[in-house]
Amino acid sequence: IKPRRPIVAGNWKLNPSTRAEAITLLKLLAANFLNNRNTNQSADTPETVIFPPLPYLSDAVEILEGTGIQVGAQDVGPNEKGAFTGEVAPSMLVSAGCSYVLLGHSERRTLFGETDEEINAKLHKSLEQPSLKVILCVGETLQEYENGLLESVVDSQIRKGLDGVDPAVLMNDRVIIAYEPVWAIGTGLVATPAQAQHAHVAIRNSLANMYDTEVAGSVRIQYGGSVTADSTEELMGENDVDGALVGGASLNADSFTRIYDGA
Ligand code: PEP
Repeated sequence: IKPRRPIVAGNWKLNPSTRAEAITLLKLLAANFLNNRNTNQSADTPETVIFPPLPYLSDAVEILEGTGIQVGAQDVGPNEKGAFTGEVAPSMLVSAGCSYVLLGHSERRTLFGETDEEINAKLHKSLEQPSLKVILCVGETLQEYENGLLESVVDSQIRKGLDGVDPAVLMNDRVIIAYEPVWAIGTGLVATPAQAQHAHVAIRNSLANMYDTEVAGSVRIQYGGSVTADSTEELMGENDVDGALVGGASLNADSFTRIYDGA
């Protein structure tokens, strides 16, 4: 048993195309988990979260009730209410039944130009909601990796993303870090367990420098990037890999369930 409770999360991204398909997937997931898994009931089972697109959140909350699978949003805005057309507030996610929000995914950073400062503002606003937890994504590009910049890139993302965050917030498990090397996301090129472990240690070192070793040791760090049922167990065998953030494979109920089992 690991010192930190494992956490498995599924990021659906912009899928599936219709609500009907989403409901089918949710029902399959619910059936799998209600069948023979006792998720979220004790500290030795992995915590489980899925991140569907916003229009399917209410369906997810309703259909997954009693399964132990929690629901989160893939992004959120930094404002509370008012004249911010197109935005969603953390308080709205909570009132819709969400307990998690994903922030700083590499697709948001690269395709939508999100900066560390914007991610930090969203993180602070999210943490104002006592029942909302954040998964903060960090990770280097292939070019940065090849130039030996992994440590400095993730250090900068951690420092800026967590700027102003109280150590007690981290000790209370309100923020989970997802290490997602950009070169591994959606490419089928999963990091080796050793590569993941190396990066997770680098992230823990950043946290230790920014806070202290106790904080660094308490924060859960997930690996994300082309995780499948076949790679989960080996990745989870590493000391500092506390879970998986799964994209593509989370769109198949059986694959996601097998990943949960492997964690
Ligand atoms: C992700 O989007 O967070 C991700 C890891 O995607 P995939 O598993 O498809 O690489």
